[in-house]
Amino acid sequence: MKRTALVTGAAEGIGLEVCRELARRGLRVLLTARTLEKAQRAAATLDGEVIPVPLDVTDAQAARRIDEAVDVLVNNAALYPPHRGEGGVLDVPDEEWRALIETNFLGALWTARAFVPGMIARGYGRVVNVSSDYGSFGLGLKGPASYSVSKAALNALTLKLAEDCARAGDVKVNAVHPGWVRTKMGGKNATRSVEEGAREILRLATLPADGPSGGYFHDGKKYPW
Ligand code: NDP
Repeated sequence: MKRTALVTGAAEGIGLEVCRELARRGLRVLLTARTLEKAQRAAATLDGEVIPVPLDVTDAQAARRIDEAVDVLVNNAALYPPHRGEGGVLDVPDEEWRALIETNFLGALWTARAFVPGMIARGYGRVVNVSSDYGSFGLGLKGPASYSVSKAALNALTLKLAEDCARAGDVKVNAVHPGWVRTKMGGKNATRSVEEGAREILRLATLPADGPSGGYFHDGKKYPW
């Protein structure tokens, strides 16, 4: 049976690469982006069954309007603050807190709420939350405050959602740090290609039934929460 995957924020960067590879492996891919035009332009560059779908992850109801049985959900869409690291918690403007929390954390919650109940009902699902080393308490919550807090919240969501799915058959929820990747967000000096950044996301998106759930991973290894 052909599985259906949905990737958020997939018009470029790591998300686009994840779509390319999932389609190459024979999945039906819903390539989503903030606008239909962006999704269409990106989907046209890929081979396989890739369907462009508009999805602004900050719209709490938008994912629910996508009438699809999603088996693999990759929460990839994210924002990074434009100042790239200046200022602590007390300096961050209201709009930045709202935008980062709504995109990087609530965006993943809204898609999970739309698609995970179907996974549980069908007894199969893979959810991959694309996090960051900056969201790791264990590594000191580095980076800009709004980004770091939003990714730490995404990690917490990963654990709590995995708990909800623990008795739901073969439904797995994991988080991943992709490494420092050459994209719009990572910049041109980053150490990894998009192919390298996508690799662990793809592993978690296609885990076998005896694979882990409720984990945080980087390069195939457990990562500190
Ligand atoms: P990019 O900035 O290249 O891509 C992120 C995508 O998310 C953009 O296409 C952006 O679209 C989209 N997006 C933003 N807001 C929304 C929204 N409201 N609805 C839908 N889509 C939205 O980033 P990367 O590919 O580098 O990042 C992918 C993931 O990897 C992110 O979660 C990021 O935090 C994580 N990551 C990346 C690292 C890196 O070094 N690159 C390091 C650690 C983690 P638009 O242009 O319309 O805003």
